[in-house]
This record gives sequence, C-alpha cells and structure tokens, in this order.
Amino acid sequence: MSLIQFENVSKHYAGKTVVAVDNLNLGIEAGEFLTLLGPSGSGKTTSLMMLAGFERPSAGTIRFDGVPIETLPAHRRNMGVVFQSHALFPHLTVAENVAFPLKVRRLSRSETATRVTSALEKVRLAPFAERMPHQLSGGQQQRVALARALVFEPRLVLLDEPLSALDKKLREEMQLEIRRLHRELGVTMAFVTHDQSEAMVMSDRVAVFNHGRIEQIGPPQQLYDAPCNTFVAGFLGDNNKVEGKSGPDPVAPAGQMEIRLANGLTLRGRRAGHSTNGPSQVLCVRPECLKVALDAGQLETGNQIGARLVDIIQQGDHWRLVAALSDEDGGLRAENWTVKVNVGSVPAGLTVGQPVVLRFRPEDAWIF
Ligand code: ADP
Ligand code: MG
Repeated sequence: MSLIQFENVSKHYAGKTVVAVDNLNLGIEAGEFLTLLGPSGSGKTTSLMMLAGFERPSAGTIRFDGVPIETLPAHRRNMGVVFQSHALFPHLTVAENVAFPLKVRRLSRSETATRVTSALEKVRLAPFAERMPHQLSGGQQQRVALARALVFEPRLVLLDEPLSALDKKLREEMQLEIRRLHRELGVTMAFVTHDQSEAMVMSDRVAVFNHGRIEQIGPPQQLYDAPCNTFVAGFLGDNNKVEGKSGPDPVAPAGQMEIRLANGLTLRGRRAGHSTNGPSQVLCVRPECLKVALDAGQLETGNQIGARLVDIIQQGDHWRLVAALSDEDGGLRAENWTVKVNVGSVPAGLTVGQPVVLRFRPEDAWIF
C-alpha cells in the first residue's frame, strides 16, 4: 500500500471553467522523493494543497496509510510544508521560528529545545539560532523553513517550489542539501517544480503534470529515455521535432518504424508506446544524439538529413549549433533543430550559413 493515495481526485475552483486537477490518481510511496513537474497552471500546487489540507477536493479521495483524510484539518495531518516564499515570522528568532510547530503541539520546554537544536543541526544552522530572519541570506532563510517543516518529525514533507526565489548557484547547493536530508532522514518528500533539470537532479520519481493530469510518471531517466508522448519528450530536456507520415517498411526492425517527411526524406526511429501508423507522425531526437558532418557520406545504417547552420553558440565544453532543415519545397513542418556537440567533435571550419548533414541513430529517435 502506498503511503499516500490520490483516488480520482478533482478540484474545481468556484468561478473557473477549467478544472485545476482532473481525476488524479497518484500513489506516493513511503520513503521516496517524488517530484510533481509541469508548466505553470498544470495543477501541481493545487494537488499539494489538497494533500496538506489547505484545499478540499471537489471529488475523489485522498488516503494516508489507507485512511481517507479529506476531513482532517491541516494541522492534524502530520505533514511538514515548505513554500516558495519562506514566510518566517519576522519578529521571532531562528530558534523561535523552528520551535513554532512544537509550541502548537504543546511539547515541553526541554523537549522543544532538544528538537530545535537537532533540526537546526540537520540544516547546518545551529550557530544561527539566535539570529533574526532578516539577518540571514535567502538560502539560509529557506533552510530555516526546512528545519521548521522537519522539527516535528513528520511522515511526509511537502515542498512547493522552495528554491525558485534563489539564484542559480544557491539553488543548486540547496538541491543537494535537500537530497542529503532526504537520504539521511528517510522521510518521504513530495516536491513541486516547473524546472525539469531540478526534477532530474532530485527525484526518485517524477510525475509530469499537464492540464491537471499526469502525462507520465516514473524515474527521471526513464521519462527522459522513453517519454510516452511529445509533451513529455519536450518538457524533459530539449528535443528536435519533425512532422511527417508513417512510411510502412516491411523490413523495419522490431520496435522501429519509418516516417516520411514532406520533402520525401525517410527517417527511422523507435516506435513510441501508443504510436500507430498514420498520416500525422512526429519524430523527436535529442540535441546530444545528433552528429554533424560537412558532407553527406554513404551511411550503412542510420539517418541523415541536410540542414543549414543558422547559429553557432560556444558554451564552454560544448557547442550548440542551430540548423534549419533543408526544405526546397517548403512543405516541411519543423522548427530549427539544435545540435549539442562536445568541443572535441566539432568539425573544423564551421561557419554560419554553411550546409551540413545531421546524423542520428534510429535507436536514439522516437516516433510518436
Ligand atoms: P501550478 O502549481 O501547476 O502552477 P495551480 O495548481 O496553481 O498550478 O493552478 C491550477 C489551475 O487552478 C490554474 O488554472 C489556476 O489559475 C487555478 N487556480 C489555482 N489556485 C486557484 C485559486 N485559489 N482560485 C481559483 N483558481 C485557482
Ligand atoms: Mg504552483
């Protein structure tokens, strides 16, 4: 049995025509780090708020250890919560802020002191116990919020974009910090973000949200390597796409299929889960799976497609090339493709405007 189970949960805000959460079914396993990932407005916060007890579902059931909790008030759900804006009490010291949930729970003075010290040690803020929030950096304030969420040893910690107000370097530090805490404490965490790289770094599993529904759920690498549709493929990492129709190939290896583009070119890729042959197919391939060559060579296997370089961006250890696919007839439906190449494998003498050939293996492309 999952620690938490959403069963057919929907949320309809009064006065809104679209549902915020649409018949959600989701299990959160004890001890896991689960991330709710999705674009703004996809229902992540609403799902978390219903779990925390700050919103009531319009329909469905949420179970904690198998027991429905819709009628249980937030403070009795034994969940720690951290929001984007840390919302520390400005007039209380760090220690008093962290002690607050224990006060509400009427713990003894000595028990409170022990627990506060221990929680501050966990987030490495013990020396700051007597400071006021305004004397701390943004990252330190967020760690106080984390200590406050952990201090009563909840079974589940809910974090809603807790790092989005921090700058990039601090955010990356805090990602590792939260990961470490998760590992050391063994507490279950449900984490919301719209940042796919953050989701990739932190999670045991990721649930990709879109329009109040989960498109796909699984370990991050699985979603990256085997997205179930173009939305997930495009949301986790960059993806190059081109549209076409299926070109039935009697000799295509098992699990693969062909796509015929409007310019007559045929490409081959892996057949995605639900993809059936038809007139509107999309091939997706990631920038790091493309190789760039100056001439069309004889290829025994694999795909190649002509393009023209429209930009060359040097990014330290790798280059990002932007290329427009060759399309004399103008019927091709594709945006510019990007290619990510390590500095060592950039062909000499690349210039903007130059014709190139992009190559990729069928096993690195998906056809949806
Ligand atoms: P996310 O966290 O993924 O950005 P939200 O759960 O905040 O998404 O929002 C989902 C949908 O519900 C959006 O259309 C949003 O406008 C709407 N919504 C969220 N909170 C409220 C609210 N308190 N009242 C009315 N509509 C809301
Ligand atoms: Mg949100």
